[in-house]
Amino acid sequence: MERVYNFSAGPCALPEAVLLKAQQELLNYNHTGMSVMEMSHRSKDYMAIIESAEQLFRELMQVPDNYKVLFLQGGASSQFAMVPLNLLNRNNKADYVNTGVWATKAIKEASRYGKINVVASSEDKTFNYIPKLDQAAFDPDADYFHITTNNTIYGTRYNELPDTGNVPLVGDMSSDILSKYYDVKRFGLIYAGAQKNMGAAGVCVVIVREDLLGNAMDFTPSMMNYKNHADNGSMFNTPPTYGIYLCKLVYEWLKDQGGVAAIAEVNIEKAKLLYDFLDNSALFSGTAAKEDRSIMNVPFITKEHKLDDQFLKEAAANGFVNLKGHRTTGGMRASIYNATPLSTVQKLVDFMKKFEAGNK
Ligand code: PMP
Repeated sequence: MERVYNFSAGPCALPEAVLLKAQQELLNYNHTGMSVMEMSHRSKDYMAIIESAEQLFRELMQVPDNYKVLFLQGGASSQFAMVPLNLLNRNNKADYVNTGVWATKAIKEASRYGKINVVASSEDKTFNYIPKLDQAAFDPDADYFHITTNNTIYGTRYNELPDTGNVPLVGDMSSDILSKYYDVKRFGLIYAGAQKNMGAAGVCVVIVREDLLGNAMDFTPSMMNYKNHADNGSMFNTPPTYGIYLCKLVYEWLKDQGGVAAIAEVNIEKAKLLYDFLDNSALFSGTAAKEDRSIMNVPFITKEHKLDDQFLKEAAANGFVNLKGHRTTGGMRASIYNATPLSTVQKLVDFMKKFEAGNK
């Protein structure tokens, strides 16, 4: 069977070269006579895999030496609790920006542990924009300031990071990590689920500045305390070994592509192709505010949603799958993460043009 054009928001398309490499190494990894799934996490071969994954990731993200990189489990959603449990440790309060469902969940979870101040929200327009941030509303005594750098469901992203002064900035980077350059130094902590730009679901990568470690709340479960993971090189317990191995393969692939700077250029070109078409179409239109448009997730609709279902049906019949928008927004969404080549976006645009011509 032919592989489809997969626009899923995550888990999503992975680079074919990565899948082939995993296949090739599946039964007998590096002459060990076993699969990576079958080896002890403390074996020499596995230690080399996790160390290489961390090294490559540090290189790709230009992670400074005073930050730890942790490979954890529980998805990005576990971080909604781990961040406050570990970081609400001085004044027991934090600032959050509400830019969608994931931010809302993060706010709800953090509110169980301290006083959460929502400094801005775009809920009034179904989160289709990034709210303007007024620094006067920031609490200088907050223990941290939380944003979602890219909003997967609505296709919005920050063009500029908020200046939070000495208050550590925390970024949920699940859907745009490694898609463009981010200055890690601007953040106290970054977290991202792996299932978009890094590999398979199950792994969550955390980058945390060392001085923020070691002050978790007393009742923090051991598994949720960053310091335990940091002190044990992400081996406080059995880590998600195969998932981390897949991350390593994706990082190698990304390095082969020329790294983050090179993929960012391709990503901008891909997004421009799609947005230019949407902006000039009589049938289709994008739903996110132009100035805040994501280069990873592109939500769109047909005029008054009238032909959404028909479009999705015909698209699927032609091999363009997982284009249905999130259940809370409807319409369509094309997720075009790092692994989606420009040629695939071109094929989608060609198909949309054809659909439009046939439905005048
Ligand atoms: N944050 C963002 C921005 C997301 O897109 C997602 C998942 N789509 C999550 C958090 C939750 O991730 P997980 O399902 O891995 O917990």
